[in-house]
Amino acid sequence: MKANFEQILKRIAIIDRDISELNRLKNRLPNDRPYFEGLNSTFEQQITTLSIEKKSLLGLSVKNPPAWLISHLNGNAVLEENKAEEIEEEIINFSPISPTEPDIMQFFKVMPKTEVHLHLEACINRATLKELLNKNEVEYTEEEFEEKFNFKDLNGFIQLFFFIQSAIKEEDDFTYLIDSLAEYMREDNIIYAEVFLAPTRFIQNGLNFNKIIETIVQRIREIKEDEGFEIRLLIDVSRSFGVDNAMANLERVLRIKHEEVIGIGLGGAELMGPAKDYEPVFKLARESGLHCVAHAGEDDGPWSIWDTLKYLQAERIGHGTSAIQDPELMEYFKENRIPIEVCLTSNIFTGKYVRKEENHPVRQYYDAGIVTCINTDDPEIFNVKLSDEYFKLYQHLNFTVDEVIDLLKKGVFSTFHPRKDKLWKKIESDIRRLKTKFNLN
Ligand SMILES: [Zn+2]
Repeated sequence: MKANFEQILKRIAIIDRDISELNRLKNRLPNDRPYFEGLNSTFEQQITTLSIEKKSLLGLSVKNPPAWLISHLNGNAVLEENKAEEIEEEIINFSPISPTEPDIMQFFKVMPKTEVHLHLEACINRATLKELLNKNEVEYTEEEFEEKFNFKDLNGFIQLFFFIQSAIKEEDDFTYLIDSLAEYMREDNIIYAEVFLAPTRFIQNGLNFNKIIETIVQRIREIKEDEGFEIRLLIDVSRSFGVDNAMANLERVLRIKHEEVIGIGLGGAELMGPAKDYEPVFKLARESGLHCVAHAGEDDGPWSIWDTLKYLQAERIGHGTSAIQDPELMEYFKENRIPIEVCLTSNIFTGKYVRKEENHPVRQYYDAGIVTCINTDDPEIFNVKLSDEYFKLYQHLNFTVDEVIDLLKKGVFSTFHPRKDKLWKKIESDIRRLKTKFNLN
């Protein structure tokens, strides 16, 4: 048999990848699920067939081996005539290069992505926060600063959030936040993001909402012009300060006319503010042409999600972790194609419904055909990037690389981007090129 050496190595790499994917799929089948009996043996059969093919390829002799292979096998020694036989034997044990975990991590990092559930204050990195604190002459010691970021519980998390908010003293300070968000996007190749701005605290501190928005919008436009990636704003009217405050926030939003402000969200303490109370706010927002999203099922049961869908008609649900408890609700999500914004790391930290990555319901949501998109929620606070979230799915929940790409696609179609098809086409062609580069085809 005559075949090009490179072709053989490539085929072996593909076989290795397929075998490991088949093993992952096989291991994913829970024992207590009613899959048909023959399924396991089907996996075994495919794995055996591929293993036989690999063995036969590895058994081939190499005529005129390339210099790099000789050097690899001989520890840089010069090939001698009588060593030819040894090489032929050693090549049987030679393992070709297949994508490693660091390669896959890197692939997730460089593939273009979109994100729709992240909070602006939680996107400020440590260096920028220090700059802002120094500019505004807020006193702090290095120990205090480090301690704030090394929080262990929800209270510590909230204290850090307040600390970040306290660093912002004037409207122009929002430039620091947007620049930090842009840095986060640049490093992880996120080309489009919808970010929450919760204005209540800042307004209470005497800042002017219009000026905040003007500052942010101007910076967003400069970033789009300079680097091409896009940021849109969702104003979190908040359920922590009551319905009158939420309505006042909506009215502020309705008075500004910038295409970068695309809708409202309902964040804050889920247990304190039932969705039903906010029905008039969301009704007016919808009638005014704003997009509506809401956090639900993060800290309360499936009934909270039902209320959010019923009374607020939210177009996407943030977290939705408790939806797994209600099969009817799962069906509703699937039928109505309402995306769930999954925030894995954040949910593990909160620990309300899930304490280990392996137990997160995102796997069941995806398998059930629910539109699921992946997000970080608070990237700089949790020290997590979107690519890390994808990698956790790969590592802990048996998502294959192609399934991760499918999640990314679902993420793109979950955005409020006006030309989603066009956006996906561009991302898809970049991913195709990157898959070849990373030997993932
Ligand atoms: Zn959130």
